[in-house]
Amino acid sequence: MARPTKPRSIRRFPASTTYQPLDQGARESAVEIGYDEFEALRLTDVEHMSQEEVAQMMDISRQSIQLMLQTAREKLTRALFEGQTILIGGGHIEVYHCPYICLDCHQSFSIPATDPTRDCSACGSANTRCNSDAFCALHCQIEVQSPQEKP
Ligand SMILES: [Zn+2]
Ligand SMILES: [Zn+2]
Repeated sequence: MARPTKPRSIRRFPASTTYQPLDQGARESAVEIGYDEFEALRLTDVEHMSQEEVAQMMDISRQSIQLMLQTAREKLTRALFEGQTILIGGGHIEVYHCPYICLDCHQSFSIPATDPTRDCSACGSANTRCNSDAFCALHCQIEVQSPQEKP
């Protein structure tokens, strides 16, 4: 029996999962981009992380990242070029859980990275921080700031 591949760790879902050209209407054909492929693109092209870092964050090999980026970019570009519908979904994924620590009661707990809630599961305090890698900690801290605090 073949060993099932490890799920790819993702931290965000796209805002929309279906894209169609406005000027031409829908074509019969559609391309499908997995959530894992999309996450690899996001971390590389939007967060400007190295393939090494992305591989570490998604818990897969650098070769797999390289292959995923290559296929995903080709699919996206082809879809745009040919006016195809783009569907984002599927893939062998699991949502990354941030290891949180409460700065008030020192309780450790985990929160799915896609969950906007950051409150302590024990005392309800909002004075918490993500204890994960530097990138995630930064990202999680940015998320808990109120919009007024942004420059
Ligand atoms: Zn985090
Ligand atoms: Zn607490």
